[in-house]
Amino acid sequence: MIDYHIHTLLCNHAKGGIRSYVDAAVKAGLSEICFLEHLTLDRTSTAHAMHPNEVPFYVYAIQELKRAYHGRITIRTGLEIDFTPEALPAINRLIDTFDFDLIGGSIHFVDGINIASRRNASAMSPEEFERLSRRYLERVREMVNASFFDVVCHLDVIKKTGRPLPADVESGLMEVIDRMAEKDLALEANASGLGHPAKACYPSKALLAHAISRGVPITTGSDAHAPLTVGEGIETALATLHDQGATHIARFERRQRSLVPIDLPPHQESS
Ligand SMILES: [Zn+2]
Ligand SMILES: [Zn+2]
Repeated sequence: MIDYHIHTLLCNHAKGGIRSYVDAAVKAGLSEICFLEHLTLDRTSTAHAMHPNEVPFYVYAIQELKRAYHGRITIRTGLEIDFTPEALPAINRLIDTFDFDLIGGSIHFVDGINIASRRNASAMSPEEFERLSRRYLERVREMVNASFFDVVCHLDVIKKTGRPLPADVESGLMEVIDRMAEKDLALEANASGLGHPAKACYPSKALLAHAISRGVPITTGSDAHAPLTVGEGIETALATLHDQGATHIARFERRQRSLVPIDLPPHQESS
């Protein structure tokens, strides 16, 4: 199994040393992991991400781990970048400076509000939630058209509190997936939602099924912010993908994608 979304202490809201994440992954029987640390060049949201000056240290630390764990687990270097249109040239320069394996694109902030925060989302009135959902959709559309990344992270994360998305936003996200198919972008099945009130991966089963039917390649990630949650939910996410007709998942090396068959543990196999 592959966990392609793991954070580190550098983002200021994760726990545990970087090595303990790899130890947890080995213990969980994962074959491959990718660190996907937050990076943003939007000055209003830097508190939840690593500082751009820390990127060389981050890349170096993972290189060391790749060497130390060689033969036991495959480790990849990635970034989860907050999409900021104004910062795209700077983002591209930064990406080009290092040998990243995977670049993820995310929207966490809409109109200055952290929509991935459950506290903010639960305090919202239904009208405010609808308004922000539509703004979120616009930002996601923009991001998918911007072509700087390989995989779209947690596509419908705005449903974190379990509130259903307005029907037009849900169908808008379906169209986003159509666009991703045209642009040959991969989609993440982010298992962290299984433990949230949403009780489903981000994105939901219906969106994943649509992506699979359009041939969009899919990665699996736990979004671990603590060693204990490395690999969490990946088995369930894989079972969902398999049930929706997926046979392979995507992996990346130096931003080159390949597909590997879904390796469900025998008891999860459905015929
Ligand atoms: Zn985070
Ligand atoms: Zn995220």
